Amino acid sequence: MDRRNKILIVVLCLLLVGTIYFFVDPMKHSVLPKCIVYTLTGYKCPGCGSQRMLHAIMHGDFIGAFKANAFLFCMLPFLAGYCYLEIYHDKHERFYDFFTTGKVVGAILVLVAIWTVVRNLWGM
Ligand SMILES: [Zn+2]
Repeated sequence: MDRRNKILIVVLCLLLVGTIYFFVDPMKHSVLPKCIVYTLTGYKCPGCGSQRMLHAIMHGDFIGAFKANAFLFCMLPFLAGYCYLEIYHDKHERFYDFFTTGKVVGAILVLVAIWTVVRNLWGM
């Protein structure tokens, strides 16, 4: 599969997911998957609230999106930049190499771990 088809598949998947999260409110409908970690343990995982966050962003409710999952909301620009670099890594090799080093990935994992502890201690 060539690069153009991969990008097309990713865009189509994003449109499908975006359509679902625009029309289905995770707070009102139970068709969307529930978090397995939260269901089994009662503790929030780093991704808990991400469906509510996506729904809120789609409706322009950025405060609601922040309240649903503050860490993921703050990481969105980074995620967008990473997706951009993943697509155009041949044009920005230095940035791509930097963002895929073990130090950067390790730092992100540490932040995710801190977020998980903080949100469960303070009920975020
Ligand atoms: Zn979760």
